Amino acid sequence: MRFCVVGAGFSGAIIARHLSDKGYKVLLLDERKHIAGNCHTERDTSTGIMVHRYGPHIFHTADKRVWDYVQQFGKFRPYINRVKAVSKNCVYTLPVNLLTINQFFKTTFSPKEARLFIEQNANKLIIDPQTFEEQALSMIGSDLYKAFFEGYTKKQWGIDPKNLPSSILKRLPLRFNYDDNYFNHPYQGMPENGYTAIIENILKSKNIEICLQTKFEDIEENFSHIFYTGPIDRYFKFSLGHLGYRTLDFIRIDAEGDYQGTAVINYCDYDIPFTRISEHKHFAPWEADNFKNTVAFKEYSRLAGKEDTPYYPIRLVGEKKLLENYVELAKNTSNVSFLGRLGTYRYLDMDVTISEALNVCDQIDKSLGISELP
Ligand code: FAD
Ligand code: UDP
Repeated sequence: MRFCVVGAGFSGAIIARHLSDKGYKVLLLDERKHIAGNCHTERDTSTGIMVHRYGPHIFHTADKRVWDYVQQFGKFRPYINRVKAVSKNCVYTLPVNLLTINQFFKTTFSPKEARLFIEQNANKLIIDPQTFEEQALSMIGSDLYKAFFEGYTKKQWGIDPKNLPSSILKRLPLRFNYDDNYFNHPYQGMPENGYTAIIENILKSKNIEICLQTKFEDIEENFSHIFYTGPIDRYFKFSLGHLGYRTLDFIRIDAEGDYQGTAVINYCDYDIPFTRISEHKHFAPWEADNFKNTVAFKEYSRLAGKEDTPYYPIRLVGEKKLLENYVELAKNTSNVSFLGRLGTYRYLDMDVTISEALNVCDQIDKSLGISELP
């Protein structure tokens, strides 16, 4: 019995390890030169700084099982994501908190006063917000929306926030105190040796054969079961059409010392073409002072072409319908399980990705025969 796992990101690595621990032989494929998928980190050859190749990744979760799981495979250092945002040439902190509000409106509100003020500014006529814009206007009002969200969101998604679902904004907290932690989750951190080292450790198991720079499409072997974490539409040779993604272009900035003084600065104005700048040595503050030079990346978002790396699933009405049709096809395909952010065409944070992969492992354990796998 031999299994095939397509994709060596968190999803694929967790499944491969589980099967291997059960004594099964596994072939793990990835078309990239490296493991770890989009979480891949590596030491930059010119500066020595640990760089997050596919954009900044901060680990955060409320799920104790996930937190305990990742820590078996490497040490996580405490790391809190504190994002700065530039709007009309002024620097603020995000997510919107009491400092953002007081700086933006030039006030000295207490938490209670700020809450009352924002409630008065928010659009109370919007009872059940459906779109990104409605969600923002009903939550924080027009001034903060225009300053921090309208332009950034247009750049990030390439469409008017009137046409985006409210769920995208619901990811972000709104606070009436000075807490500028970007996430609400109790467990947050950064792997001391990067994410690739964590995944390398997950994959240290004798029954796993890893083939990099290998496309699933080029494999002819028959397997007992396939766990596919690549794009679901690609598995079906795009027979129903292409699911839309946003992709990112990174423009490198080399500098001496400290370029921007923090890890991430968002640029919220529409007339600045990039969305944010990430300076990677600040993702590892415990070693940041060791480096004389620094490297940062300007991030530009655009619609993914057929050859581009898929980053953010767009998931508008058209895509959702297409996805449903692919899911129907997937249900009728025996011997293959689809998982992960590309296999299910969803924006998944690492913790959700890991939790879902662990659930698939539970199902593997419960299933009596391969035909019952998800
Ligand atoms: P992936 O990591 O994408 O792995 C899939 C792998 O499959 C890829 O390596 C690909 O090469 C391979 N593959 C696909 N098709 C084939 C094929 N046909 N043949 C061979 N190989 C194939 N999450 C957080 O929790 N915190 C963050 O701060 C965060 N920041 C992010 C920032 C950006 C810019 C993006 C895009 C995502 C971010 N995420 C973050 C989400 C995180 O990247 C995902 O949760 C995670 O990568 C999902 O893992 P995965 O294994 O499902 O997919
Ligand atoms: N967003 C924004 N301005 C910001 C940060 C975020 O308008 O400075 C919007 C944007 O549409 C983004 C969404 O809020 O997609 C969710 O933010 P998050 O930081 O979770 O973005 P992601 O991790 O998806 O890049």
